[in-house]
Amino acid sequence: MSGYTANQATTAQDASGIDINARAVNYTCGDCDGDVQLKRGEPIRCRNCGHRVLYKKRTNRMVQFEAR
Ligand SMILES: [Zn+2]
Repeated sequence: MSGYTANQATTAQDASGIDINARAVNYTCGDCDGDVQLKRGEPIRCRNCGHRVLYKKRTNRMVQFEAR
């Protein structure tokens, strides 16, 4: 870490949102199918369309198209 100065004069805040380098989780929007990156404590919400249903990205792909 380099030169991180903690501001003690700021208002009391939760444990969330302190570390900028917190691990962000990648989600896929259930509506516009866009990539959404959310950090810890952030509300589940798409930034593109505002949809609130997001799917967590995983190693195994989701089956989107069923055989007809
Ligand atoms: Zn969306």
